[in-house]
Amino acid sequence: MDLQRKLAILADAAKYDASCASSGSKPRDSVGGRGIGSTEGAGICHSYAPDGRCISLLKVLLTNYCLYDCLYCVNRVTSNVPRARFTVDEVVQLTLDFYRRNCIEGLFLSSGIVRSADHTMAEVVEVARVLREEHDFRGYIHLKTIPEASPELLALAGRYADRLSINIELPTAESLAQLAPEKDGRAIRRSMARLRVHIDDAREAAAPPPAVVSLAGLRPKRAAPPVFAPAGQSTQMIVGADATDDRAILVTSATLYGAYRLRRVYYSAFSPIPDASLALPSQAPPLVREHRLYQADWLMRFYGFAHDEIVPAGQGMLALDMDPKLAWALAHRERFPVDLNRAPREMLLRVPGLGVKTVEKLLAARRSRLVRADDLRRLRVPLKNVMPFVVLPDHHPGALLEAQDLAARLRPAPQQASLFDAEAVV
Ligand code: SF4
Repeated sequence: MDLQRKLAILADAAKYDASCASSGSKPRDSVGGRGIGSTEGAGICHSYAPDGRCISLLKVLLTNYCLYDCLYCVNRVTSNVPRARFTVDEVVQLTLDFYRRNCIEGLFLSSGIVRSADHTMAEVVEVARVLREEHDFRGYIHLKTIPEASPELLALAGRYADRLSINIELPTAESLAQLAPEKDGRAIRRSMARLRVHIDDAREAAAPPPAVVSLAGLRPKRAAPPVFAPAGQSTQMIVGADATDDRAILVTSATLYGAYRLRRVYYSAFSPIPDASLALPSQAPPLVREHRLYQADWLMRFYGFAHDEIVPAGQGMLALDMDPKLAWALAHRERFPVDLNRAPREMLLRVPGLGVKTVEKLLAARRSRLVRADDLRRLRVPLKNVMPFVVLPDHHPGALLEAQDLAARLRPAPQQASLFDAEAVV
């Protein structure tokens, strides 16, 4: 099989992994040699570096052969898809070629499990080692690690990769047992814990040493601290392949962030696969569910919300028709209106329509003067959402905050489905 065909198969097989998310824009296809700029087929996706830069990555699998039979996965052993396998050298050369042509800034590498977890992990690590040690590759490397692989291989992976990820796969142990019986939930968490220890140790070693008195003109020398996955670890959870509700998903995410200090939990809406098991739903969940989970996740990480504030006990799912922050504010009107000139940062962050950057700008502005309605207009905040919940010297929401129909007024208008929407979600 030629390299081009392998790349087409193994880049396509990697697209189901959301933990190196593409921007979600509609792909432009230049099959047939027409058009430039196509990223389809070549496995190039866009992801975000820890510093917020958008970077292009070559996103491929080493192989889509797999011994396991995870029911939701197109690469499972019983799946009837074309198979391919790269050698270590082929992935290294592809990465270097794309890099030299300025098509990519890094590599995202995952793999089906062949022979054993250790054998596969060793090959994945070898790609990163050859790139770093033999070619002095300075680009970004994200390795998907296999939780059942030996701790030594995981430790080695962290020496070469910027980011490591281990997929939690499903939100609960019961779902994992039902849909991915060969996967071991305890092994997944054990490996995450090991990565966390390595990452913490490396950060501690890299922290500046305490100041020491040295002789004039002499600087104390220090060995370079060991590097271990400086961009941290992340995971991916499939949403909608089982009956787990949003509350349970957010509980799992909160536990993962707290216990293993993950940088990101990625939510991947289940997409039906060919010849699927009857244990799986026949339809994908609405994509807006995945979007609401990302918004809720953002609230937990940057806005100070606890998971059980976002979806309280007794309520299983996030509202699909409005964002979770607005839904929370409407359910807790007794906490509003918020005085934008006096309220603490934590409360400003809870006002619908105010993002973290806007809150920082408001805090900076009010140090020197009173913030007024015009300031909000200049900051281009969505006034329709903000004004019912805030007080300013020249604005008070009055009875609007308690209005029975406030939710209906703030709910985004339903959008007419485009003729091409169905195609976009297939
Ligand atoms: S181990 Fe990974 S590649 Fe293999 S079937 Fe399961 S999810 Fe798919």
